[in-house]
Amino acid sequence: MTGRFVFAGGRVIDPATGEDAVRDVVVADGVLAGAEAAEGADRIDVTGMVLAPGLVDLHTHLREPGDEHTETVASGTRAAAAGGYTAVAAMANTRPPADNAAVIQAVRDLAVAAGLCDVFPVGTVTRGRDGELLAEMGEMAAAGVRMFSDDGAAVPTARLLRNALTYLQAFGDDLVIAEHAEDASLVEGGHMHEGIRSASLGLAGRPAEAEEIVVARDLALARATGGRLHLCHLSSARAVELVRAAKAEGLRVTAEVTPHHLTLTDEDLITYDTSRKMNPPLRTVEDRDALRAGLADGTIDAIATDHAPHAVEEKESEFDLAPPGTIGLETALAVVITELVAPGHLSLARAIEAMSTVPARILGASDHGGPIASGRPANLVVFDPEAEWTVEAPFASKARNSAFLGRSLRGAVAYTVLHGSLVVANGKPTR
Ligand SMILES: [Zn+2]
Repeated sequence: MTGRFVFAGGRVIDPATGEDAVRDVVVADGVLAGAEAAEGADRIDVTGMVLAPGLVDLHTHLREPGDEHTETVASGTRAAAAGGYTAVAAMANTRPPADNAAVIQAVRDLAVAAGLCDVFPVGTVTRGRDGELLAEMGEMAAAGVRMFSDDGAAVPTARLLRNALTYLQAFGDDLVIAEHAEDASLVEGGHMHEGIRSASLGLAGRPAEAEEIVVARDLALARATGGRLHLCHLSSARAVELVRAAKAEGLRVTAEVTPHHLTLTDEDLITYDTSRKMNPPLRTVEDRDALRAGLADGTIDAIATDHAPHAVEEKESEFDLAPPGTIGLETALAVVITELVAPGHLSLARAIEAMSTVPARILGASDHGGPIASGRPANLVVFDPEAEWTVEAPFASKARNSAFLGRSLRGAVAYTVLHGSLVVANGKPTR
């Protein structure tokens, strides 16, 4: 449905303005309109539901080009829309990698053709994502890229990262390098958090120090260069401490955490469930609790999914052979509501801020994240915070490697509005 419609009777939570009130929201010709436009418009009763700015994911793997058997731009953005997302940053570790403007434009064109979610392609930091020479970040910035990352691995040397942080500032003050903070030499051959659990399960570990070392290095280089740094999927308590200190010092650093690192721990690996194998790995209860505290107090800015689709046969292999990652776009909001908001670890307004308003700002996605105000682009999510459902296949995603498979969750997306079009209605994607 496009044209004109009114969401009637919903609770509007808009972190961009601090609004939390029941009122009607009118959509007309792609934008939010005033009450005067409501007359004659279709009414959609959303009493009891929450209406918020569409969610924004800083960390989505769409897998196209190169691994279309696991996900495509179309299927991944359908999963995003189903999960309430109106914008996602598409990670650059495709095959070929997004290290030039042509690949960037191809991903964008596929997203526009699908029409389900705005896609902001991330460019690589290094050419071919091989960690040796800087990529043509200027060319990609000129093509509208705002975030650069070799995600999947850290930028391997301090010298390269220093050059990247310096070089990027020549093309715009708002450009950011997003780092996958794991020291390659420490995690090589490891499959889960290194500790008592990895010893008892007989699996080689990936120590928390691998993250701490890269975070500390990167913060030192952000300080030295004045460059803007974003730390992906933080997983360890000491990394949270480092970011807290860096922010107190005024460094230009932001950080994200995933729903799975906020809710699961290495104890959840006792069944050798390969859907819970991820990089960085699930860590201890103490780490998880530090991530929750960091998110609540703003040390960690955003919740990002790290949606990582894999083929069934790949994930059905032995634990030490299975590729890392879990899908997350369709479960993120409900996991956050069920595991963090309902038990009182996080307010619903802060959750929406961390899943929409703040990531929109980090990404420079100015059409997203609110405010929900007349004349603004109509990018919205409407969800029932009480609706219960069970995580099970099929997903809108092509993949089904969810770390939350079988879980009963609370909070279901009913409508997603992208530039005034209902791309999800009554809980189902419309295209
Ligand atoms: Zn990563």
